[in-house]
Amino acid sequence: MNFNNVSFERSFGTSAQLEPSTMPEVAFSGRSNVGKSSLLNKLFNRKGLAKVSQTPGKTATINFFAGDGARFVDLPGYGYAKVSKSEKERWSELIEGYFNQDRDFALVVALVDIRHAASDLDENMIRFLREADLPFVVALTKADKLSRQQQNKQKAALKRQLELGQDAPMVVTSSAKGEGIDELRRIIKEAVS
Ligand code: GDP
Repeated sequence: MNFNNVSFERSFGTSAQLEPSTMPEVAFSGRSNVGKSSLLNKLFNRKGLAKVSQTPGKTATINFFAGDGARFVDLPGYGYAKVSKSEKERWSELIEGYFNQDRDFALVVALVDIRHAASDLDENMIRFLREADLPFVVALTKADKLSRQQQNKQKAALKRQLELGQDAPMVVTSSAKGEGIDELRRIIKEAVS
């Protein structure tokens, strides 16, 4: 898997438009503004590949990126309070529609901001992944905003809150500083091989 050779494929506004899955898929989920676009750009070494925005809550789409032997699926960021009810419904339709399809789910990278307790929607997402028995890893984002000691404390607290076992895969990342990026690449490589 060459992470430097990933290209944008297509965006979809409804799950009915999704094309059948023909390669293992690595999906990225998380609340709006969690740092998903920044993490994708860092993973793939490409500044503008996924759009980083200062204003959260952009239109919900599922974006597909193609790599060698795997696809990367950028799920719409959830939980932005200021979007309309219909936009929230579109978000649910997209995410639920994606996971309800018969696809080659290799891994879900569930992003959670390391600074805060997980939101209800984060909890729902991770409960769903656990109950559906989907392979997933929790990526804690924006680690550079906390000291090492605070990071360890938050990591333990989030494991408890999300009811993940001590050995549950959880990686501490910072797109700003590059922390955890190689570890996440290793986890992805193993999941798609
Ligand atoms: P998305 O909405 O989940 O795609 O989040 P973005 O990647 O657009 O990032 C949201 C905001 O968080 C932007 O202002 C980013 O610059 C900032 N951000 C993202 N990742 C990091 C990080 O690792 N460290 C810090 N300090 N800020 C980050």
